[in-house]
Order: sequence, then structure tokens, then C-alpha cells
Amino acid sequence: MTASEHVTYCRICEPLCGMVATVEDGRVTKLRPDKDHPLSRGFACPKGIAMTEVQNDPDRVLHPQRRRPDGGFERVSWDAALDEIGERLGAIRREHGGGSIGWYMGNPGAFSYSHPLWVKGFVDALGSQHYYTASSQDVSNRFAASSLLYGSPFLLPIPDLERTELLLVVGANPLVSHGSVMSAPRIKDQLNAITARGGRVVVVDPRRSETAREFEHLPIRPDSDAELLLSILQVTFAEELEDGDALAAADGADDLRELVAPFTPDATAAATGADPGTVRVLARDIAAADGAAIYGRTGSCLGRHGTVVSFLLDALALATGNLDRAGGSMFGRPAIPFERIAELIGAGDYGRRRSRVGGFPEVLGAMPASLMAKEITTPGAGRMRALFVSAGNPVLSVPNGDELAAAMRNLELSVSIDLYMSETALQSDFVLPATTFLEREDLPLPFLSLFTKPFINMTEAVVDPAGEARQEWEIIEAVSERIGIVPQSVKLARWAGRAGIKLSPRTLMDLLLRVGPEGDRFGLRRGGLNLGRLADAEHGIVLADHLEEGVLMGKIRHTDKRVRLCPPEIADEIGRIAGADAGDDRYPLRLIGLRELRSHNSWMHNSRKLMAGDRAHRARINPVDAEAAGVADGDRIRIESAHGEIETEAKLTDEVVAGTIAVPHGWGHRGGWETANRAGGANVNLLMSSRPEDLERLAGMAHLNGVAVRIEAAPRPVASL
Ligand code: SF4
Repeated sequence: MTASEHVTYCRICEPLCGMVATVEDGRVTKLRPDKDHPLSRGFACPKGIAMTEVQNDPDRVLHPQRRRPDGGFERVSWDAALDEIGERLGAIRREHGGGSIGWYMGNPGAFSYSHPLWVKGFVDALGSQHYYTASSQDVSNRFAASSLLYGSPFLLPIPDLERTELLLVVGANPLVSHGSVMSAPRIKDQLNAITARGGRVVVVDPRRSETAREFEHLPIRPDSDAELLLSILQVTFAEELEDGDALAAADGADDLRELVAPFTPDATAAATGADPGTVRVLARDIAAADGAAIYGRTGSCLGRHGTVVSFLLDALALATGNLDRAGGSMFGRPAIPFERIAELIGAGDYGRRRSRVGGFPEVLGAMPASLMAKEITTPGAGRMRALFVSAGNPVLSVPNGDELAAAMRNLELSVSIDLYMSETALQSDFVLPATTFLEREDLPLPFLSLFTKPFINMTEAVVDPAGEARQEWEIIEAVSERIGIVPQSVKLARWAGRAGIKLSPRTLMDLLLRVGPEGDRFGLRRGGLNLGRLADAEHGIVLADHLEEGVLMGKIRHTDKRVRLCPPEIADEIGRIAGADAGDDRYPLRLIGLRELRSHNSWMHNSRKLMAGDRAHRARINPVDAEAAGVADGDRIRIESAHGEIETEAKLTDEVVAGTIAVPHGWGHRGGWETANRAGGANVNLLMSSRPEDLERLAGMAHLNGVAVRIEAAPRPVASL
């Protein structure tokens, strides 16, 4: 037996921790944390370690599968699968145009440097706007807010963890998520270091989350982040705590001041549940801190006003002089300027096009995934007739996934590219085997601007693809060839492709790195980076000790180079908050999501290690609410919203404030994965609405947090005789 070790990095979540893989006879037998990685320094979480199980999972799809007339699947050769896909796709394109062909890319797609570029190239070459990603269940509103503030969706402030004196965390649980929209390995150590040096971490959350337990907790009612931030801003202005110079350099400060004036802490107390005195003190503390960083994530993104919330996080940072300064909310320093690439391929747009159903603005070139079912079933020009799904399981992750599963049966062609026969793959005509991240070379392209300490690395594939697995970009090239298109967004690249000049992802990355700010300019700059030099530095390269301050003006894409503090879209939305509805007595509780340490959305529930022990799908309910509903700890309960109902198990805990119920997402499997299916549970997104009128207006985000529900004890199943 031959064994070797390979340095690589984890691509499950955003810290991108360094790993070392042991390979024996061409098989990954072990993953361990890389103690020489300069940022993660020997840390990896249980999910990263458990990737060995995913890699070697007997349930993995390793060969192309085609649906049989009886609904089952049969193994076919790659050529047979690609030829038939190409033939059927070509016919759909000829009859209905490329605009009838769509693609959904799930969250793991963003961790590959090639996958998103080739998907976008494919839909652009077809001239289709049916491009969907997991972002509209996660983060689109953050990009929309940055577009409105800075004219670029990619200017994403990240907290300067190493120098901040006060970190305000709104709707995030970094001790469990490990950080998102920031790449900061060893996040727990970094937060502990803030308090160790005399600083503070304040966590705003309806749930006493794992992070809130360790630091200061400010509990609020679900989906009231906007009201809380408006009040903090109101106090900042009313008590003249603001940074006058910072506001003078921005556009619309006086309008914003006027807009927030009615939202005093007393006026919003009923909505937030927060004590007005506490809110005032927090506003003063943020303004007085020598560096306050304001950070929010999914908890603040998935409510009714997610774009406003993201916008206000930055507006507060700016108004208190904490935007683009050491210790505050800063901007990344990527070695490859991803935002310029994205602009070039049309992924930097906000609102250039509108969705066919609902008229929502595109964000990063993508439309709201919640609307996919209706885009398939709503007649008219541009109806989606073919759908590719890669690295995603939208039947479990979009609101009302059963509607999507049913709609997929109306498609003339559906193709899933996946590791597993997921709930979505089961609805498809073809299921094509994808590589794991250990089977491909990579570089963290979209995350380079999110490292709290500027950093870059790359990895080669650790092993050859298992079975007949292929990378997504290779599959896209093969399908494109069969229908006569070149899957590139830039016209010049398409012309070059037609002339036989094609760039591989590797060549493209080398080019981009070499012309980037750290690049070797093809030998003109000594010591500069190219891909070869980067590959030699197997643990990666720290590019600077800290992020640079004072860089924002040079990056703003508005022509006047000023941050816009009161664009009309935001002013309108804030006006709607002021007249918010009074609620529905039939549904007295508000449901929020919940991230678990040993789950990652819907794709890691087939790992026996991660599912070992007492793991089950459980709804966290405050004992007061449980008593009112006649529910005891461990009971089966029915949760009902205006849009659906599910059953799961009750876990009574005062970690959620009364009136709130917290339910993890990504459960309720019934695909081709045994351990995941056995885990049971329910798909919480069946409680959510996919109606256009229920989506967040500025980014088309799914409304997944603060959803009105009621609970009752579920009838016990009748014992079989
Ligand atoms: S924290 Fe994320 S990146 Fe790090 S090992 Fe865990 S899953 Fe992988």
C-alpha cells in the first residue's frame, strides 16, 4: 500500500481551513487540520474532518444516470447522456430560444473557481436570464445593499476582528457558522481575543445562540433588526454622536437623519422587545468605541426587510466613523480583483434586468430562486422549459419545495449535477456525477476579498475523480459543444472559442493573478505572484498583517465617488416599515432558522459521523409557548403557517425568547441517501411562501425568518396491528 500526504484546504464554508489529506492507493483515507496553515493553524471543525466520509460515501453517484420510463434510473455512458442532453436541449433552443433554458447553482458551487464562471458563461451564451443561485435564500440582499450604497455589489464590509474594540453581531452565530461573508479561520479565538483585550462582543439575536451565550446578548423579537438599527441610528443623530466628516463625505446624510427620526427606541420597543434604555446605551457605546465593527448575517438577511437591514448596518458604521477604518468595518484586499471580473461578465449588475414573474431586480446576474417553480409553470414567452441544477438541492432549500418538485415534472429536460441522488436529483431526467472538492484544483476566488487578514492560496486535486465523476466546467463544455455554443460571458472569449482558442480555468486564473495587484506582470515585477509560485507556497501566503483603511473612495462605483445614504429604494422600504402590519392572531409565534454545528444546509446529513448520537430534527420552543399549546419536551408537534405545515419534535428551552420558535433547515430527506433519509425530520421551508408578493422586494430574498406560525401537539400515529 502506498500512502502520501497532500496539503489542501476545506471548501465547505468560508474560513477555508487548511487541511492535510492522507491518500492510500488513490483513496483519501483521512483528513486532518493543517497546523502550518498561517490562519487556521491546526483548526478544523467536525464537518471538515467528516469530508472523508462524503468522499468515500457508498451512496455517491459515480456514473451518469438516466431516468427510465418507470421513474427509476439506469446507468448510461457519458457519451450517451451528453448526446441525448445535447439533442433535447438543441431542440428546445431551436423551438423556444435559449431564454427558455435555466440553471440553478447551489452554495457549494461558489467554493469552486471554475464552476460559477462556466455556469454564468453558459446562460449568457444562451441569452437566458433564468440563472438562479442559493444566494436568494442567503445573501442577495447584502449584494443589493452594497449596490445601492457604493454602486458595486462586491464592496462588502468585513469586521476588523484583530483591532476592534466593539463587535456588534446582528443575526449571526459565528461560533457555529464559523463566519460568513467573511473568511476568518479560528473565529472563536478571534472573538475571545476581543474580550481578552478589554473589548466587547454584543450579539443581537432572538435566540441565546452559542455565540450569544459566550458574549453579551441583546435579545430581540424575530425580524425586528431593521427597527433596532433604525433606533440606534436615531439615537446617534439625536444625541449628536455622529462623525460629521464621514457624513459630510457621503450623499444623503440629512435625508437619512430625517428618515430615521421617528424610530426612537421607545417607538420601536413594541416591535423589537428591546429596552429603550439599553438601545440608547448601545448607540453611545458604538459611537464612543475606538473602532466598532458592525456585522450581520443570515438572521438579519432573511426577514421582510433584509436589504434595508444590510444597508443600515453599513449606514450605522459610516455615521459613527467606523466604516473603512481600523477596528471598524473594512474592505478586503484580494490578489485577484474578483469584482472587476464579475463586472466584465455581467455578474456585477443590480436590477439591470427584471424577473419575468414578479418583476424582481437581478442581483449578481441572478433571479430569485423562490420563483423557479412559477417560471416553469407560468405560460408565456421565456417560460423555463429546461433546467440544470448543480451542487444544489432547491427542492429542500427554496420556499415551498414541493411546488418546485411538482413543477420540475413539467420540464422538457432536467439535469442534476451532484454528488448524491438528492431530493432534487430524483426529479431530474439525468443525474450526472460531480467531483468533490478533493478531486479538483482550486483557488478561493470569490472569498479573496473577504479574508479579514489578506491571504491567498491554491490547491491541486488531492485524488483523481472517483468513478466517472467530472468537474462541472467540463460537463458544461461538453454540453455546450453539442449545441454549438461557447460557454463564456464575454463576447470576445466566445469569438475566440469559436476560433478554437479556449482558456482552461487554470490558464484563466494564472492570467488574472499575474495582472492583479500582487501579480508578476509576466516577469516585469520581481517577486510577484503567478499560479506556479502560489502552488509552491502550499500553505498559502499572508499578503499583509491587516486590511488597509481609507480605501473605500477608490473602490466606489458611483460616478460621484460618494456613498449614497438615502437612495429612493431604501427610503421607500423604510416607509413601509413605519406602516408595518399588525400580525395575524391565528399565527401567534414567529419562526426563525437555526444553524447546527454538524449540519451544512442539506448536503452533509449522510455522514454517519456527523449524524451519530442523539441527533434529530427538533424545534426549539420557549416553555411558556409550549405550555400554552399543551406541548411537552420531546413531543411530536405540528407547526403550521399560512402556507404549509410540518411535523417535528419539540425541544423546550428558554434559549429562544417567548413568542419565537427556532427550527433548523435542510432536514426531511427522502432522496437516494440512506443515512440522511433515516435521520427523519421535516423540511422547514414547506412553511414558507414562494408567492412573489411575499418575497423581499429589493433583492427577491426568500422570507425565511420571522415567519408567522402556530403549534399544536401532533396526533400520535396509530399503532399497526
Ligand atoms: S470551519 Fe468550515 S472550512 Fe473550516 S473545517 Fe469546518 S467546514 Fe471546513
